[in-house]
Amino acid sequence: MSRAEIIDTPAGPAQLKRSHRKTLAISVLPDGTLELVAPDHAPLEAILPRVAKRLGWIKTQRRAFREMNATRPALRFVTGATHRYLGRQYRLKIAKGEPQEVSLRGAFFHVSIPKTGENEVKQALEAWYRRQSRLQFERRLASWAEWCRHRKLPQPKLRLRRMPKRWGSALPDGTICLNPELIKAPSACIDYVITHEICHLKHPDHGPKFRALLQQLCPDWKRLKERLESTG
Ligand SMILES: [Zn+2]
Repeated sequence: MSRAEIIDTPAGPAQLKRSHRKTLAISVLPDGTLELVAPDHAPLEAILPRVAKRLGWIKTQRRAFREMNATRPALRFVTGATHRYLGRQYRLKIAKGEPQEVSLRGAFFHVSIPKTGENEVKQALEAWYRRQSRLQFERRLASWAEWCRHRKLPQPKLRLRRMPKRWGSALPDGTICLNPELIKAPSACIDYVITHEICHLKHPDHGPKFRALLQQLCPDWKRLKERLESTG
């Protein structure tokens, strides 16, 4: 879990992470970011020529992601549009009203709002999602407090963080970063992500000890991981 550093490369700025791996890994993330994972002590002079060699491939990857993102329909914030929460789909019902209020009733997201423009509704809904993520995630992390205390691990504390391609990460001080988008996934998948990150408080890498602990705490993790990936 090394911190990323931004460096200049022949393919533009890139995130450079260090790890115990033996070779350089070059990848393009869905948002076009170039990510390099390099061996701990590899100097930049060794890394940059390798990036230069892969320029053609990097361009192709970026183009493919751009096309994919362009064809995926954007979420709409109008009456009738569908939005997810804890794995279920709800339809938006928007009405002019004050004070601003978002609530879930039956199969509907009711949004009462002074200005019913799509942008205003989007902001109201995103604020609601954020509040719910905080509540739900904090409640779940609290249920691990005792488990961590027993093992002399730091107390898990929540940080909400938008991450383009990750659901969560864990820091050695007990901070569990969770993607607020995760609140749209089924509860069991949220529990899996949190359990995965809690296991990192004991084992920072994904080695055999980590996998054994995850298997013990969340025997169904493979299926949940797949489900999470398939719902995007
Ligand atoms: Zn992990």
